[in-house]
Amino acid sequence: MSVDCPNCLQKARITSRNTLTKEKTVVDLYCECKNPLCQARFVVTNSFTRWINPPAKTTAQIALNLLNHLSKEEKAELLK
Ligand SMILES: [Zn+2]
Repeated sequence: MSVDCPNCLQKARITSRNTLTKEKTVVDLYCECKNPLCQARFVVTNSFTRWINPPAKTTAQIALNLLNHLSKEEKAELLK
């Protein structure tokens, strides 16, 4: 993961991180600018926002849940 310095817009390195939620969806990244003329240190908050594609296991679980709501006849028709 790459972080840009908000001051000089050069690359910064992540020196440490602090997870703010038990699901690890929000993390504070402590950063230090690599530009020797800047050397700014700052914190960037990285957070999960939404799925673009759900994980495969979730998709399988959704399919299984749908199948479990079908009648025997509907399941038989689906298998044809
Ligand atoms: Zn900088």
